[in-house]
Amino acid sequence: MAKVKKNLNYQRYLDLSKADLELPSLKEDDKGYCTVEVGERYCRVEGCVNETRFTSANNLRKHVHKQHPLVHLTGEDSGGRPTQGEEAQAIKFYNALMKAYDDREAEKEEVLPPLPLKHDGSVHITRMRRAIRALKLPVPCEVCKDNGTPRQCCHDEVIDTCEHFDMFVDPRVEVDEEDEPEDEEGEGEAEADDGDDA
Ligand SMILES: [Zn+2]
Ligand SMILES: [Zn+2]
Repeated sequence: MAKVKKNLNYQRYLDLSKADLELPSLKEDDKGYCTVEVGERYCRVEGCVNETRFTSANNLRKHVHKQHPLVHLTGEDSGGRPTQGEEAQAIKFYNALMKAYDDREAEKEEVLPPLPLKHDGSVHITRMRRAIRALKLPVPCEVCKDNGTPRQCCHDEVIDTCEHFDMFVDPRVEVDEEDEPEDEEGEGEAEADDGDDA
């Protein structure tokens, strides 16, 4: 028997703020009623700026009644335990919410790969171009072509203009002249994602 409270995605929902969840607005069914899912805690009335995580779905319903008197909710009289169908529908709702959340997070974490270097610290042009072609980008890049230096593309000599250098983080640039190197954020963490999101 599917139980919302035991659902992992529901537990994750409870740990996240309303802003982080980017909840879909409540929608009226064809009879003009909206449904608060089993276990819901945040108000999803369109435009509602209330960020409270209510202590129960019941308190959420009270908020809707009070603050949004024009919104009519389904299941007013039930009061008792949710049906299996309601539980199943709610689990589907939380699963979809967390899937969307995970997709957004995965996008945020996308980081540029390090610029491939040779032992002497110069650009490893062969590996760099291989990576560029894997991204389905043309070699030479537009800028190097326009500058009349197509053969210089991906070379250190054109590092300031060549578009391909924008696709990597140059590990040789440790300290930004304006910025002190305070933020050693997430070194090696990029490595953890081995891109199995196919
Ligand atoms: Zn509200
Ligand atoms: Zn180039």
